[in-house]
This record gives sequence, structure tokens and C-alpha cells, in this order.
Amino acid sequence: MNDCIFCKIIKEEIPCNKIYEDNNIIAFLDIAPVNPGHTLVVPKKHSINMLDTPEETLKELIAITKKLLPAIEAATNAKGFNIHINNNEIAGQAVHHIHLHIIPRFKNDGRKLWKGSEYKGNEAEILTKSISSNL
Ligand code: 5GP
Ligand code: ZN
Repeated sequence: MNDCIFCKIIKEEIPCNKIYEDNNIIAFLDIAPVNPGHTLVVPKKHSINMLDTPEETLKELIAITKKLLPAIEAATNAKGFNIHINNNEIAGQAVHHIHLHIIPRFKNDGRKLWKGSEYKGNEAEILTKSISSNL
């Protein structure tokens, strides 16, 4: 994709702090890290997010993430990680080339996850049936 910033990074048209690369996947430091070592794991072939990315590519994305975690842990002394993929703008996706965030976590780093809410009445049962019937 011509105007895709991650495609440009992959083609080395713009620089990045690259920590891993193979034929299909690249990983580099996020330019605006939530915490030091915040890494983006990115398939080289352009797709938008999990909805249009082939299962095989997603498997590779997870396998490489698994490989990177101990290296990031050793380099940053992280005590844990949040792993996430934002899918579509409503969910905070700003770059429309699929990428997985590895966010190292540290004691007292002040980063907070959102709070859960609760289902009302039989909302959960209705949703369970609806989702499973759509599989
Ligand atoms: P999203 O919100 O789409 O899940 O996350 C996009 C991420 O890409 C953000 O965390 C942002 O800081 C990062 N990012 C955006 N542009 C660049 C760039 O040019 N280089 C690097 N390394 N990261 C970028
Ligand atoms: Zn792209």
C-alpha cells in the first residue's frame, strides 16, 4: 500500500529500530512507547487487521511474539506484558496495517487497564446464543 507507514518501514523507505526480521514478519520499537521496549510485531504483507489477515499469518505473528518475549524481558527487566491488537478505528487502531503490540510492564508503572462492567438480565445468555450461532 503506497501510503501505509508500516509498508514504508518494511521497504526501508523510512527508518525504524528493528529488533527482528524474517521472510514474513518484522518487529520494531514503537515510536511512542507506552513503556520502554514497547514493540510492534508486523506481518510484511499488508492487511488491515485480524478480520482480513489469514490464519497462517496470525499464527506466525503469535509464534514470533512468543520468541521475542524472553528477549524483551531480559533487555528491559519487564515483570510482565500486555499483548494486544487494535482492530478498527473504534478500537483505537490508528495504523491500518495489522500489528501486535508487546507492552512490557513494570511494578508501579502507573499503566491502567479499563474496568469491566456487568450484563443486565439475560443479556449474556442472548449474546452467547447469538455469537455461537454465527460461528
Ligand atoms: P494502533 O493504535 O494502530 O494499534 O498503534 C499504532 C502504533 O504505531 C502506535 O503505538 C504508534 O506510536 C506507532 N507508530 C506510528 N507511526 C510509527 C512510526 O512511524 N514508527 C514506529 N516505530 N511506530 C509508529
Ligand atoms: Zn501496509
